[in-house]
Amino acid sequence: MQALEIISRKRDGLEHSADEIEFLLAGYLKGDVPDYQMAAWLMAVCIRGMTRAETLALTQAMVRSGEGLDLSGIPGTKVDKHSTGGVGDKVTLIGPPLAAACGVKVPKLSGRALAHTGGTLDKLESVPGLTVDLDPDRFIRQVREVGIAVAAQSPRMVPADKAIYALRDVTATVPSLPLIASSVMSKKIAAGADAIVLDVKFGRGAFMPDVAAAEELATEMVLLGEGAGRRTVALVTAMDNPLGRSVGNALEVQEALDVLAGKGDDELLQVSLVVAREMCWLAEVEADPGDAVASGAGREKFLQMLAAQGGRLEDGLPVAPVQRPVPSPGDGYIESIDALEVGLAGLELGVGRKRKEDAVDHAAGIVIEAPVGARVKTGEPLAVVHARSDELAGQVIPRLQKAWRLVAHEVERPPHVLARVDKDGITRAG
Ligand code: URA
Repeated sequence: MQALEIISRKRDGLEHSADEIEFLLAGYLKGDVPDYQMAAWLMAVCIRGMTRAETLALTQAMVRSGEGLDLSGIPGTKVDKHSTGGVGDKVTLIGPPLAAACGVKVPKLSGRALAHTGGTLDKLESVPGLTVDLDPDRFIRQVREVGIAVAAQSPRMVPADKAIYALRDVTATVPSLPLIASSVMSKKIAAGADAIVLDVKFGRGAFMPDVAAAEELATEMVLLGEGAGRRTVALVTAMDNPLGRSVGNALEVQEALDVLAGKGDDELLQVSLVVAREMCWLAEVEADPGDAVASGAGREKFLQMLAAQGGRLEDGLPVAPVQRPVPSPGDGYIESIDALEVGLAGLELGVGRKRKEDAVDHAAGIVIEAPVGARVKTGEPLAVVHARSDELAGQVIPRLQKAWRLVAHEVERPPHVLARVDKDGITRAG
């Protein structure tokens, strides 16, 4: 068997055997298959797709590429949460702490920014002193004692995904149903939780273009999870507009703290509550996450988690030296804000990485002043850009001005959670 043959087969739309997939993955990890061949295969998969059997084989090969985490030392039902990625998506910083405050044990392994979407690890690392590198003993102890830990997966866990994820990020091969499904579910299966809540996003700022594709991805992932003995629920959520009011690492941590204090964007709070309630339901915990907002217990749990991971919030989150408003080019109501353009503007500012070796700028980002439905007049701020230089801020302002779509009539925000998928099928909202 040769990598070249396998790439050609996918290019021609043929189905791989499980052995072919295992051979390619193992070869890549050993260094026998170079980046350029893996990138060519990934692009062929993006264009040609994979059958359900191939996706299962890829997921299983990824899980086998490393070690799994044994969470049996943590009593109770352990519930994990994962989003397929969005712009301004800081739900992990809100929903899981709320569930943990209700008594759910949350062992969560997260990822870094991918393409134009943010990464929970990058956001958390904006807190001074915080580490996301917890060895298994520390991770398990923290979940036992605090109820929640959010950490990077160890390099020994699903090493195939770690390597492929970084390559996909820089070769335009992220938006592929089988690649996303196998990437997410291999990590979730290896991470060892008993139950999983997935947030599958679609729209301009997500990797799935429409609700039908997101439902398909959600179904595929639920089947992979249930097949591996994990109770799995997926929510299908809209990502045409950025979620909440901020995009950027430290900015999103601050927004999460505000929402947990009951002061933030209502849509962000509502979707975080839906996620937290699913986590409670899977763990058979009866407390209501809404009460954990009102009492401040969810915020307290988030603060405990940050402190347990070495975070010193009291030292202050990083602040960008330059903050410039984005003036509205006209009068009207905000009909939509193009999440992809906002995400790409964030990438320009250093919120994510353009190349594998890039460092992120924790202070950089965008704060939305005029959300969907708001009314603005010419010159009023649509957003504020937080940048490390005036030049960089100036570069993204025209792009952001084009991202806001203004209309003459009043606008209602579209619904956010469109469907719920579990092993019994799809339930659509409304
Ligand atoms: N999140 C992941 O973990 N993997 C993907 O491929 C996309 C989003």
